[in-house]
Amino acid sequence: MRYISTRGQAPSLSFLDAMMTGLARDGGLYVPETVPQMNHAEIAALAGLPYEEIAFRVMWPYLGGTFAEDEFRGLIASAYASFGHAARAPLVQLGPNHFLLELFHGPTLAFKDFAMQLIGQMMQAALAKSGERITIVGATSGDTGSAAMEAFRGLSNVDVFILYPHGRVSEVQRRQMTTPSEANVHAISIDGDFDDAQARVKDMFNDLAFRDGVRLAGVNSINWARVLAQVVYYFSSAVSLGAPHRAVSFTVPTGNFGDIFAGNIARQMGLPIEKLVIATNQNDILDRAMKSGAYVTDGVKPSISPSMDIQVSSNFERVLFDAYGRDGAAVAALMAELAAGGFTISQGALQMLQSAFASGRCDEDETRATIRTTFAETGEILCPHSAVGVKVAADHLGATPMITLATAHPAKFPDAVEAAMGMRPALPERMADLFERPERVTRLPNDLAALQAHIRERIAN
Ligand SMILES: *Cc1c(COP(=O)(O)O)cnc(C)c1O
Repeated sequence: MRYISTRGQAPSLSFLDAMMTGLARDGGLYVPETVPQMNHAEIAALAGLPYEEIAFRVMWPYLGGTFAEDEFRGLIASAYASFGHAARAPLVQLGPNHFLLELFHGPTLAFKDFAMQLIGQMMQAALAKSGERITIVGATSGDTGSAAMEAFRGLSNVDVFILYPHGRVSEVQRRQMTTPSEANVHAISIDGDFDDAQARVKDMFNDLAFRDGVRLAGVNSINWARVLAQVVYYFSSAVSLGAPHRAVSFTVPTGNFGDIFAGNIARQMGLPIEKLVIATNQNDILDRAMKSGAYVTDGVKPSISPSMDIQVSSNFERVLFDAYGRDGAAVAALMAELAAGGFTISQGALQMLQSAFASGRCDEDETRATIRTTFAETGEILCPHSAVGVKVAADHLGATPMITLATAHPAKFPDAVEAAMGMRPALPERMADLFERPERVTRLPNDLAALQAHIRERIAN
């Protein structure tokens, strides 16, 4: 199994190298050369299995011998042992044909833990064998950062630096990043928005001297291994509702397009998914692009679902690569146009995208109203991101069971939830002392040289 870049200029890599590299050296994203297939019988056999066993069967064909079978099973077991729910990704019912997939039972209470905990285990195992040391730098709109720090804290061969937009993450999100005390994890708040933070991380990867000098590795949602880990819960939830004998649909609260792209991979592997619905908040570039073909940035408007306050959805490049017939040069040209403000998706590519995805947006008032009415009708407390999903899903319900992904625990966003429904969601017991722990963070300007100097200095110590 080899991985190729969406821009066609970087060398193809093994699974392990693609995971360690993150962004390809030509600025592109790695995708599998071919998508492994699971047939009807293989999917049917997943029904009733523990999450960890489904994870093993779905991911194994992608690893190309990186780990031995038993070793990989062990890494999966360690990755999900810290989750607070035996099902790992339980389904609850919201309405006659509408289900919620709770992806917030991991250690940092957001779906990012599914991928990050596993990447932490896989990178540690690989580095322990080679004796190498790496520096992980990531940008976060709130949840990736804490998930990464939680997954890597205390590991001896890894330093982690997480950039988050100053003042634009919730207090719980910030505290989850600033309170780990281990010396190898570092929180940086930068003066800018999430797109600025993400752009500086990309700059660091594109500065090949810096990249090689500090042995930069990425765990942002562009990392193929993260997408892969997220494919698993599409299978586990779909078979719970009768797949492959009947099809299911999914609605996915979307920012960087990583989570929903994993759903697209599950479908390409053979899982019968009828609709795959992109749900955006008021930062609706993806919904606009799907409807008009114009992918044009419009500035980020801060919302109560901050993990989706994104204009440039990095993983959208992966689906464009498929829509353009896997023509890396065409994708590179589109991305050059994007740097200057935007591009128009060609007619043929747009048709392909519209046949694969539906989309909808949910504004701030609708988000609050959905939190309120869902609680009144079901007793389920939604985080604002999940509420965006539930609202957009409601516009796409039909004869096929709809599964909406609940991407975070409501207690991560207590102010927004309280404003919507008048009640403050409590943190789970295991995190109850978060507000008493001391914080540690460095504030830096939105400036590449300053960030690089800080990272070099810290890893030298
Ligand atoms: C990251 C995140 C999203 C968006 O996921 P993408 O993979 O970036 O589309 C949605 N909700 C929450 C709570 C998140 O942390």
